[in-house]
Amino acid sequence: MRVLLVEDDDDLGTRIAAALRAEHFVVDVARNGEDALHAGMTELFDAAVLDLGLPKIDGVTVLKNWRENARNLPVLVLTARDGWPDKVASFKAGADDFLTKPFKIEELVLRLRALVRRSTGHASSQVACGPLQFDAQLGTFELNGLPLRLTALEWRVLSCLMLRAENVVDRGELIERVYDRNAEVDSNSIEVIIARLRKKLGAQCIETVRGRGYMLTSQVPT
Ligand code: CA
Repeated sequence: MRVLLVEDDDDLGTRIAAALRAEHFVVDVARNGEDALHAGMTELFDAAVLDLGLPKIDGVTVLKNWRENARNLPVLVLTARDGWPDKVASFKAGADDFLTKPFKIEELVLRLRALVRRSTGHASSQVACGPLQFDAQLGTFELNGLPLRLTALEWRVLSCLMLRAENVVDRGELIERVYDRNAEVDSNSIEVIIARLRKKLGAQCIETVRGRGYMLTSQVPT
């Protein structure tokens, strides 16, 4: 799950980014409205955390621009200003959720996971595919009822496939959702992670769709 974090307060931005990364989120940070606007228009994110008071372009304007250009990522607005007009302006601009500073980072994590889950069409936090169970709220996987241990990269790939189970996820999209923009990505790194996941889950769980990408499936071929 890749998140765009828009926060001009260096200290707070660093703390939020560290906390999100500890929960396996991929985080890219924008420190002003101009960079945020550009990132949201040109890159793929599962969600954005957006401060309102920003240098260059304010958060509400950034959000309005994204929405006017059909950028539909879930957006959680974060601000010190808890005034009613700010909240109304944010929701009118297309915000999905709101959190007022100071807040508990655990709450931010829970809200983000819920936003990403709902945006991929899952009303319940329990997502199942064959023998695999994902608690999208806690971020935990079980295989045949037993906890599944995953590395951070394996978790990112599997959660992305799981939320889109029985659908093909393009290889390029998977790479964008699994790595931040500064990551050095080897040409076969996704294949290596998929191979490791197949060892843990059983080879038939993840289908390779030639020329396109991968699909998590419960349909075991006969
Ligand atoms: Ca600010």
